[in-house]
Amino acid sequence: MKWNVDTTIIHAGKGPDRETGIIASPLIPAVAYAFPDVDTAAAVVAGERAGTYYGRYGNPTTQALEEKIAQLENGEAALGVSSGMAAISGSLLAFLKHGDHVLCTQDVYGGSHKFLTSLAPRFGIEVDFVDCTDLQAVENAIQKNTKVLYIETPSNPCLTVLDIRRLSELAHSYRLKVIIDNTFMTPVLQRPLDLGADVVIHSATKYLNGHGDVIAGFIVGRKEDIHFMRKNIMGDLGQPLNAWDSFLIQRGLKTLGLRVRQHCRSAEEAARFLSSHPAIERVYYPGLPEHPQHALAKAQMNGMGGIVSFEVKGGYEAAKKFINSLQLAMISFSLGDPETLVQHPASMTHFSIPPRERERFKITDGLIRFSTGLEDTRDIINDLDQALAQVVRTGANLTTV
Ligand code: PLP
Repeated sequence: MKWNVDTTIIHAGKGPDRETGIIASPLIPAVAYAFPDVDTAAAVVAGERAGTYYGRYGNPTTQALEEKIAQLENGEAALGVSSGMAAISGSLLAFLKHGDHVLCTQDVYGGSHKFLTSLAPRFGIEVDFVDCTDLQAVENAIQKNTKVLYIETPSNPCLTVLDIRRLSELAHSYRLKVIIDNTFMTPVLQRPLDLGADVVIHSATKYLNGHGDVIAGFIVGRKEDIHFMRKNIMGDLGQPLNAWDSFLIQRGLKTLGLRVRQHCRSAEEAARFLSSHPAIERVYYPGLPEHPQHALAKAQMNGMGGIVSFEVKGGYEAAKKFINSLQLAMISFSLGDPETLVQHPASMTHFSIPPRERERFKITDGLIRFSTGLEDTRDIINDLDQALAQVVRTGANLTTV
């Protein structure tokens, strides 16, 4: 029977334990496993037989979760790793070697930008950042040694929406692999593999776990690619997702659909409130009709997500005054948690991008990223309202920078 996403979230993967009937996914922290004979051990290590042989290459708790994540993303297989960055770097390294080139979307998570501009070049990997809303610009930037197109949609922090289907078609016509960071959407709102992508990655630290107490990542794609990444990237770099964190993600994941819908409701109201406020310069939210890719967002996504980015009139000083005046929202680097979290990308998550490049990517000094939590929507809006009143009262919105 084919299930809808909310049912898949609850039931996909392993069912109740046959012997005991236990429904909750068991926590198995074991590192070592015993085999009945050498042939069985050899078959498991070769991937010819299901099983676990050493904790650095996976464990049963994580494998149960991987099955679920693979089904949710409509992928053949999934790999749980120790962080979103392990998923990003691991999936890129799986397809790249010395002398290869990556095309990356412009406003991308700061950590991805840092990996591609600092660590990857040390191993002879080149990168160019392109405006991926412009397919011609993407095609013009493809070089003989380009192997991967790496994108986020909607992007972090400017919520630029990219056409996954058309970008995948273009990339595949040049034999590039397409890797998509689906952290902001989750499989509840978007399934990039259905639209043509080769690999999906997640920071499960965010919505998938959803409770702010785990660092984790997932890579989803074809069986052979995932097997290669498990054996040769995750295993060799030592980045497995441990059983304890997988257990917590299994718990957190059960409410993903409910949570994501509530995050979307509050973000949509916050975006509408902000866009009609006189102290606001601009709002980035794909659900607003004035968002440049609103039509694409409606066609490609099942909801507009829980993140709103915006600029307060008055630039950096006004942004600082606004953020410091919030009483409910907490200043934090993360997102997708039950608590409403706010941050200043230019000095926090995207500080490692040089200022001139940040400006080119629209990550201005006045930009604020707001992750709506699961509190009552009215309290979230009231908090925005009172913080904006503080900005206006002190005249911070009148500063020119
Ligand atoms: N991708 C996105 C869109 C993110 O926002 C982040 C972190 O903020 C990451 C990836 C990296 O995830 P992690 O912190 O789990 O390594």
